[in-house]
Order: sequence, then structure tokens, then C-alpha cells
Amino acid sequence: MPDPGPFLVSPEDLRRHGYRAIDWVADYLTNLEIYPVAARTAPGEVAAMLPSSAPEQPEDFEAVVADLDRIVLPGTMHWQAPGFFGFFPANASPPAILGELVAAGLGVNGMLWATSPACTEIETVMLDWLVELLDLPDRFCSSGPGGGVIQDSASSATLCALLSARERAVKTGVPLSGLCVYASAEAHSSVSKGARVAGFDPGHIRPIAVDDDFRMDVGALGAAMGDDRAAGLVPCCVVATAGTTSSLAFDPIPAIGELCRAEGTWLHVDAAMAGSAAICPELRAQHEGLDLADSYAFNPHKWLLTNFDCDCFYVANRASLTGALSITPEYLRNGASESGFVIDYRDWQVPLGRRFRALKLWFVLRSYGAEGLRRHVREHVRLAQRFAGLVAADERFELCSPPTLNLTCFRHVGGDEVSERLLGALNATGKVFLSHTRLQDRYTIRCCVGGTWTEERHVEMLWQLIDELAPASANRPATPNRPATGNRPAIRSGRQRRLGAAAFLHNGRLVPGDVAVADGEVVAVGLPPGRRGIAVPGLVDLQVNGYAGVDVLAAPVEGLAGLGRALARDGVLSFQPTLISSEPGATRRAAGRIGEPASRHPDGARLLGIHLEGPFISPSRAGAHPLERLVAPDLELLGYLLDAGPVTMVTIAPELAGAGELIAECRRRGVVVSLGHSDADAQQAARGFDEGARAVTHVFNAMAPLTARAPGLAGAALADSRVTVQVVADGVHLADDTLQLVVSAARGRWSIVSDATAASGQGDGEVVLGEVPVVAAGGAVRRTDGTIAGSAAKLVDGVRHLAGLGVPVGEILTAATARPAALVGREEIGRIRLGDPAYLVLLTDELEVDTVIVEGRPI
Ligand code: PLP
Repeated sequence: MPDPGPFLVSPEDLRRHGYRAIDWVADYLTNLEIYPVAARTAPGEVAAMLPSSAPEQPEDFEAVVADLDRIVLPGTMHWQAPGFFGFFPANASPPAILGELVAAGLGVNGMLWATSPACTEIETVMLDWLVELLDLPDRFCSSGPGGGVIQDSASSATLCALLSARERAVKTGVPLSGLCVYASAEAHSSVSKGARVAGFDPGHIRPIAVDDDFRMDVGALGAAMGDDRAAGLVPCCVVATAGTTSSLAFDPIPAIGELCRAEGTWLHVDAAMAGSAAICPELRAQHEGLDLADSYAFNPHKWLLTNFDCDCFYVANRASLTGALSITPEYLRNGASESGFVIDYRDWQVPLGRRFRALKLWFVLRSYGAEGLRRHVREHVRLAQRFAGLVAADERFELCSPPTLNLTCFRHVGGDEVSERLLGALNATGKVFLSHTRLQDRYTIRCCVGGTWTEERHVEMLWQLIDELAPASANRPATPNRPATGNRPAIRSGRQRRLGAAAFLHNGRLVPGDVAVADGEVVAVGLPPGRRGIAVPGLVDLQVNGYAGVDVLAAPVEGLAGLGRALARDGVLSFQPTLISSEPGATRRAAGRIGEPASRHPDGARLLGIHLEGPFISPSRAGAHPLERLVAPDLELLGYLLDAGPVTMVTIAPELAGAGELIAECRRRGVVVSLGHSDADAQQAARGFDEGARAVTHVFNAMAPLTARAPGLAGAALADSRVTVQVVADGVHLADDTLQLVVSAARGRWSIVSDATAASGQGDGEVVLGEVPVVAAGGAVRRTDGTIAGSAAKLVDGVRHLAGLGVPVGEILTAATARPAALVGREEIGRIRLGDPAYLVLLTDELEVDTVIVEGRPI
């Protein structure tokens, strides 16, 4: 066998697979809501899915991508999910992703100006831009002795600040062992870590007490510094926090700054997350006193739409920083560095090598503009404040600290255990993720709003979950006066049922992963894949004239219930009973029966509404409709029929005089118009679409043929991107080549209907279709004159037939679920989404119906 050779080695390979990789990432970001936010992976589970050794031979890129779905997604905490409210945001964004990609493509190491002038100078300019945008003190600008640099993290920035402070102090002759570092008891752990790494005596790292709002107590700081001086020690560095990790408390920088100035102590301000808020002028109060700081850092990788890693670190005077970190071996010497006119950022950080991180910041600033970034930050703050208001107004909770910017800290009044259980239950839903801390030594739930994709509805969902899951407070038996939470069932800890699917349908694709249901709802999507089969939403059939021996027009109420039950067993969980042209009184009576609740079986397909296939159709394209029942457009009659029951769709021939008024009236009443049983030419069809018709009924059947110069209704529908083209894919109505033509001409907007008759799901024989006797034989249903009069197949037979023609399965299943659902304005029944009522079907790999779930129960 010839050696396949390694893949991804040439730029052309990159181009080809790169599109695939970008598609994968874009799909991931589109699908964020379907995954449980926190991974449900046991330790070692991911490692166990990897081979124990690296591959000896090159693998195919598709295999790598498949493993992203199979291994990575289920084992990932989805930080980008809109329901992520934990820790602090790590908001990625499309421009930053592309910036990363380009930086990787350039692959430069910007250790010296000379090793990539663009890497250095764009970084310098970006950091200067941010000084202006955030209204930081001018002394942080590169035009003076100060300037900014991108570090990987706030922790590294703090370390560099500590190293600079140490450098400045030891230069005055004080030994390292005599230097002290101060930070509040609420400061981030990276301060202690940095001080340790920088060689400060661990016994000289002073945690300073905080006030009731968790801000550094300046009196205590002054006292600690005084005590140290008295003991012969030197206060070297204070790290003040502008937005603490636990509660977003702001240390009083002006007072701390004055103290530091008086003591000659370095002041570093750590604004890791909150610093980004300063892009909004009204959220800049934290900057007061910042001109007293020697260094400052904030993380665009937390809350400024820039992918991790990107921390902006500023110094007022770079001399101490470079003094601490610059060592120049011969091999790094170059003329530019020695000229003194350039910045070598290797001297501003611990490592030598550095990535071109400024590119993503540049992409972000240019793509969103300052105004776009402000809009994001403001919206998060608004949502967080709304959330804090809901918490504060509910007697079950208390706020643990003043809600600040995008963070709310709260606890259940029932105590630590209740709060901890609530957090566990919230995170177990998979819809949200929050984290906790301890404030005043009490268990505290943190809700931090800041995701790129988080919208108001996600915060509402969070509150709804909290409302449902939190027990009543001891001093209040019920929860009166609280906003209603809708009529969704509460999420209980009922047993989950996994479908065991190897893949599920999502956004037109088969995504590896399983689905679980409990208490009637979809409670998990994207679980580790099961062994086989595909989980899909219940199939949607917009044209069912009869089924399993029952004709819709003639059936009594209990017959209709049986029909719905039979459809459900065959995987159709939503349908439009379809009435062919009949005497208006009979149509009205049938519609009335369909509208009766008793016509719905509890385990049956859901009624979407009635499809009236006629009577305003062309006598020359009547098909199985009795000619004597066809009528000219008549608004009054239309009103009479629409009033008869829950009509959702009407098939009309657009060329009939007065059809336009019918279409307009249907639109006015929210009824979808599908054109069909029509002799229309393409212009008449286009006029119908302009008037508001949005679909075509069983394309090519019962309409003028498409020919070279006369495209007719079929051609017009295939050419018009507004139109959903409905096909009967039973292998009888359309020749396979014609079916293929529809699939490619109407890409992304064709859908499957069964056009089922009472003969569907039955053997061959005679049945009635409305008022007409028809004969089912060999899968076809025909009138005695041979005219095709509907189908004997099931919808899922059409699905299989199309798969046999090589149409991608994800595309076919979408045409049998999401697309017909969207056509009748019921998107929610055509998707699998967390929290939606569980109406699902597990198909075998051969596309046979395996299991049908109705309201969470197998039937
Ligand atoms: N400082 C503060 C105030 C923080 O909240 C955090 C993040 O948790 C950090 C520092 C550490 O950030 P990084 O992960 O960038 O080191």
C-alpha cells in the first residue's frame, strides 16, 4: 500500500483543512447552548479515550476533527457558553480568534524589536490606545519613561511588579530579606505566589484586614507599615486590588497611594477583571488615585472580548522593570537594541520568547470599535444589576457584598449547606455554571455576567432556575408575590433517561453525543456518545391526509386519536392533518373534529394545525381532488373554512382570479400559504410569492411541468430563495433524479412531507381519500384513472429513500424536522434543546425508528 504521506504539511493542506477547522469552531460557537456548561467527566475519562502512544502513521484530518467532537467537547467546561456565570469571564470573540490564527500563521517570536518590529510596535501602540480609551494616567504611555506590555496573565503582571519593586528597593542598599509586601486579605492568591517567586521572605508578606465591604483597611495598612519600619524592615510593595476576585471590592487607591508615596513604597494596582469596565466613562470611578500607582494591570482576556491570554501591564517608569529583567548575552545583541531607540519586550517579562498577542487586541479594537466594546460591558453590567435586584427582592436570599459592576454575591438565608446544595443543583442542570467563594467565612454563591454570548434571556433563565430550585426560607412558608415562573415543570432530581445515541441532530449536522431526558424535558445534550443511532427531534409532517386506515376528512374524533398515535409510533411527533377539497360543510365538520381535544392521543403526534389542501385550486391540476368540489377564490368561503378549526396552512393555486386576496387574508390571519395544484406560469407563481406565499405543495406533482422556456410553479419555487419546497420522497411521486434536482436547487430550503393517505402504514388495497376511492399498490396510491392520489409510505420511508440516494443524513433529517417546523413558525419543535419538552426519536443507524419519546416517556 502506498504511504499516504503526512497531512497538513503544505500551505494548500492548511487552506483545505483550515476551512474545516474554522467551520468547526463556528459551529461550536453556534451550538454553545446545547452542551452542559460544566463537563460531566470523571477523572481519567478523557485520557482513557486517547491511545497510549502517539500515532506511528499520519492520520486523516477528519479523524482528528471527529475526535474533537467525540473526546474534547464532552470533556470541556464551556467557558463561552452563555450560561457560564462562574469565576470570571474568559470571553473569546470572533476577531480575537482570527487574530490568534494569524499570529499562529506568522509564527514570529517577538523577543526583540529586531526579531519582529511589527510585533513590538503594534503592541506598543495597542497599549497606548488603551491608555487613552480607558483614561489611564498618561504616565503609563510609552511616549514617556513608562509604557505598557502584554503579559500572559495578571499573575505574571503582579510578579513583574514585585520584581520591579524589589529592584528599586535593593538598589537603595536594602537587602531582599528586609523587604515587606502588603496586600489585602481579599487580594488574589497570585500576590503571595509572586512574592514567593520573587524571593521575598514569606514571613514578610502581610495580609491586611478589610472593612465590611471587603476593601483594604488603610488604617491597618499604615499600622503594618509603621510596625515594619519600627522593626527595621522596609515596606517594598503594596498590591492594591481594583475589583477583588471574591466580591469585586475596590481598595481605596487614593489613600493607599498617599501612604505609598510617603513611604517610598511601590504601588501596584491589580484590576484583573474590573479594569475592562473603564472603557465606559461612567464605570471609571476605580481610577481615582491611579496616578499614584507605579504599575497597573488588567486582563482584556477576562472581559474585553479578547481570547486568553492577554494581560495589559503598565509601568510609570520602565527602568526598574527592565533593570530587574534585562540580561543580554552576546547572541541577543543587535544594533537596534543598542541604539536605545527601540523596545525589546523580552526585558519586560520573565520569559525570553513571546507571541504576537497584540494582533488579537488589534483585531478586537478594530472590529468592535470602542463603542462596540462599551456596549458589551454596559449590557453585562445592566444584566448583572437586574439579577442583583431580583436576588435582593427575594426573601430567601441575602446579598453578601454590594453588587458591583457585573458580579453579584449572594447566599441562601438557610445557611451554608442550603447555599451549597443550591449551587450544586444549579450546576447539575447543565444550563448554567456558577462558582462560589467564602465571604466573612460564609458560603457565598457568585454570579458573574460577562460572556460574549450572554443575553438577557440567559440571565432570566438563571433566575428562573434559582427560583425553582431554592427552597423557601424558614420564615416564609410559600413564595407569594414572586414573579410567576411560567408553567414549565420544575426541574427535579427525577431519574434521567439517556437515549444511548451515538449522535444527535443539531443545526443540520449530526453531532456525536447523546441526549438525556427527565421529568418530560431534555436535560442534557452532548453527553458522551452512546453506542448507536441518531437522536432527532420528533419528525414533522405538514401533509397527512390519512394514516393507518384512517382518512382525515371522514374520521371520527377517536379515529383521529388513533391516527395520531400511529404517526407517533412511526416517529412523526407533530403534524398537520390535511383536508382535500370537499363540500364546505364537510370540511368544516372535519376541522371541528380535529379541533376537539379528544382527537389527540396522549401518546400521539402533536397537532400543529390543519392544512386545507384546496378548494381554491386549479381544475386542470386537481389530482385526486373531486372536480366538483373546487371553487373560485371567495373570501367569504375562505373565512368560513378558516373559522372552522385551527387552520395553519392553505394550498392555493395563484393563477386563479382573486387568489391574491386569499393569500393576503391568510397572511393577515397568520396562516401559511403554500402554492400548489396549479397551472401557474412562473410569473403567476412569483406574484403569489410576492403576495406572501412561502411554500410549494408536493413540488412537480399537480403543477405545470418545468420546461426550457416555461419554468412554471416548480421552476419558480426552485429559483426563489424565500420558498420552502416540499417534496414527497416516497420514490413514486418524484423520480430519483428529480428528487436530487430539488435537493441541490433548493439547498437548505426543501422539506419532506409524506402526503400520506389512509393506505400509509397498511398493505395494498382500496381506501378512500376524502370522497374518492383510491387503490394502494406497490407503494403508490392512485385513482382508478391512474392519477397519483397520495402516498402509501411513511415519512421515515422518505428519509431512508433520500439517504439511499446519497443525500447527507443531517440534511435529510433537517428537512423532516427543523425546516417544516420553521415554515409553520414552530422552530421549537424542530430542534433538540436543553429545557425543551422531550419529544424525541432515536433512529437506528439504518434510519428505522427505534425509540419514540413523548413528553419524556418512551411510547
Ligand atoms: N487578580 C485578580 C483580582 C483576579 O481576579 C484574578 C483572576 O482570578 C487574577 C489576579 C489572576 O488572573 P490570571 O489568571 O490572569 O493570572
